Amino acid sequence: MPRRKREKIALKKTETSRRTRRSSFELRRIRGMKDILPEDMSYWDWVISKAECLALAYGFKKIETPILELASLFTRSLGKGSDVVEKEMFVFTEKGGEEVALRPEGTAPLVRVYIEHGFLNRPQPVKLYYFGPFFRHDRPQAGRFRQFHQFGLETIGEASPMAEAELIFLSFILFKELGLDVSIQINSIGCPDCRSSYIKVLKEYYSSRKKYLCETCKKRWSKNPLRLLDCKETDCRELSLDAPHIIDHLDEECRKHFTKVLEYLDEAEVPYTLNPRIVRGLDYYNRTCFEIWPSDEETSSQNALGGGGRYDYLIKELGGRETPAVGLALGLERIIILLKEKNIKPPVDSRPLIFVAQLGESAKKKSLRLYERLRKEGFRLAQAFTKDSLKNQLSLADKLEARFTLILGQKEVLDKTILLRDMENGSQEVIDFNKIVSEIKKRLEKKNNNQF
Ligand code: AMP
Repeated sequence: MPRRKREKIALKKTETSRRTRRSSFELRRIRGMKDILPEDMSYWDWVISKAECLALAYGFKKIETPILELASLFTRSLGKGSDVVEKEMFVFTEKGGEEVALRPEGTAPLVRVYIEHGFLNRPQPVKLYYFGPFFRHDRPQAGRFRQFHQFGLETIGEASPMAEAELIFLSFILFKELGLDVSIQINSIGCPDCRSSYIKVLKEYYSSRKKYLCETCKKRWSKNPLRLLDCKETDCRELSLDAPHIIDHLDEECRKHFTKVLEYLDEAEVPYTLNPRIVRGLDYYNRTCFEIWPSDEETSSQNALGGGGRYDYLIKELGGRETPAVGLALGLERIIILLKEKNIKPPVDSRPLIFVAQLGESAKKKSLRLYERLRKEGFRLAQAFTKDSLKNQLSLADKLEARFTLILGQKEVLDKTILLRDMENGSQEVIDFNKIVSEIKKRLEKKNNNQF
């Protein structure tokens, strides 16, 4: 083969391999995972800070646990037959050979902490709250992501029905403060004893109707019959309407406990709906179960903003002593979606009070120290010190809706003065550089506008 032809072929091969290499690179997010952009952060900060303030006021302490846990922690606690374990866990074998999982929920890790760190020896109950990302490999759709964030509360070491009433009350208050109308759906699934007698009745009800059930529910009939009640398929939903109610099968103790929870809620003026189909999907729940739905949302738990319940047997199941407990988790993404749908905006407190503008090299040099002096005074500030054009800086100050702009130019530096521009009426005044703080405070007092 002639040399030129050989070279041409070699060149073509290199190009093809370069192209292949390039095409194997794809710049995109993983399905079901979302970026939280700066413009959305005010929603996140608002909801989280409100939730944290409430949690702290009611004696909950913040806790953080790792995102990775041994997969067996969740298999053991949530149950092999739960959707989360069966279909949705991100599980992989790490280099050491251990099977680990990206945490799909927050209760099991907190129970691990409770046992592993001997929290039993602390004053009971141990009240904890957490916030962070969770992972479920579900089919992404509106309000359902593969990485999502939960704010959770757990009261471990408390059998009193007041414990669940407190959690429900707190979530009700939180939604009220956010301006969202919610509906609390509540049920009791009793203890293992009353549940086993109920399950017999439930299976009997469904046995003659099995042919109308979806394929998943056909399997649930033998594996996890309680879940027949919260299936989202239309036929299954219709069948569940006439199914026997578990509260009619509660034993004396479970019935008393549930009545107390409802009494406490009544007394606290928390409206709720008794919903016999709230059973939650995980094995560890017993007695009180609840979900929080948007109030105008006819449909079920598909759009639930949160949910929780009692798990009095989980600590023992994971190797600790029998310890009563109750927990709640709220889904941040869904709350923020709903806030946006309802056109509820976080209170604007990000508007700068003062924009610091500079013109010329000597002013630019002084600007950082001036800015820091104002920051220490507690003023909310903004700047664009990398910009040279005053026009650009002033239009940014305008866009940010700054109340005042301080303009430091070459002349002002020499005169030890600064220009104070009132952005509301456009008036400008020359003031003594050393009296900036007192001059601004004076103007704020005059306008009775002390919001800095
Ligand atoms: P759960 O314990 O599964 O009911 O989860 C509690 C709350 O977390 C739900 O009510 C939702 O608000 C939220 N949540 C659960 N799974 C997801 C998901 N895949 N995507 C978004 N939010 C979720």
